[in-house]
Amino acid sequence: MKVAFLGLGAIGAPMASHLTDEPFDLTVWNRTGEKAREFAEEQGVYAEEKIADAVRDADVVITCLPSSREVNGILDKIMSGIQRGALMIDCTSGDPATSRKIASQLAGMNVGFVDAPVSGGVKGAVAGTLTVMCGGTEKDFERARPVLEAFGKKIIRCGDVGAGDAVKAMNQALLAIHIWSAGEALAALAKLGVTAQVALEVINGSSGRSNSSENLFPERVIGRKYPRTFKIALLDKDVGIAAGIVDETQTPAPFIDLAAQLFADAHKQLGEEADHVEAVRIIEEKAGVRIS
Ligand code: NDP
Repeated sequence: MKVAFLGLGAIGAPMASHLTDEPFDLTVWNRTGEKAREFAEEQGVYAEEKIADAVRDADVVITCLPSSREVNGILDKIMSGIQRGALMIDCTSGDPATSRKIASQLAGMNVGFVDAPVSGGVKGAVAGTLTVMCGGTEKDFERARPVLEAFGKKIIRCGDVGAGDAVKAMNQALLAIHIWSAGEALAALAKLGVTAQVALEVINGSSGRSNSSENLFPERVIGRKYPRTFKIALLDKDVGIAAGIVDETQTPAPFIDLAAQLFADAHKQLGEEADHVEAVRIIEEKAGVRIS
């Protein structure tokens, strides 16, 4: 099966690395060509300079870019090379409306589309254990499944095109809320003299626990190491998509709206390259206390 993978970023590269062996015949493209050339050399696959050349003859084209805006930005180039009957799988954490628009443009060329954002972080991508949430027809989902199984463990069709993006955005809103609320709780406890280590030991054996309290805080806040595996810029984008969905569906959602506002401000303050968990630094600054 010929696969073209476009976008070898922090998560795209480890995902693509699972498609380098039989039955896949992989060609990669990246905006910064050097990264694609290095990847191709290391993995023994092909790299192309031009998108149209990378997608030509591909049965499946995978995109993994920051947002739907960038995917839409290269759509003309994809369409200039892609063959009729191919399938595009967008693993970007995108927005449902843009995905539906892209799908309808591709349908005009008899090209299928599945939005397939992932969860599980860079670690999950390296291990090939990502959760993949999909939107598309049953038929396109079944065509996408063998490719997604290369890097995904739990692969779920959530509904029609855009449904995968919508579920991903809501997952990210929950992640943002968990990070921020755990940060607030630990800041208040620090002022009472309770250390973060002790508080997390209790919380992680109790009903307030989350992935943030179990993994992110021990790894990054306690150790004060913030590896840049997932940028706050991307979480800000994701929670913004979630806020757009609750607005569009007229669902009263003050928590999600507030999370979007807090992460937009944190992104502005911390800059493009900060890690998403560094939002805790803003909480510490406002509270005038160090959590650990
Ligand atoms: P990165 O910022 O590490 O990589 C972004 C990729 O997109 C790079 O290949 C970059 O190319 C390319 N790119 C950026 N702008 C453009 C453009 N205008 N045109 C073409 N290509 C462009 O992001 P991640 O890999 O972390 O994230 C990718 C997607 O996966 C995002 O939607 C993110 O929300 C999602 N995601 C990420 C996770 C993570 O842990 N990192 C976890 C789950 C989902 P270049 O090399 O030239 O900069």
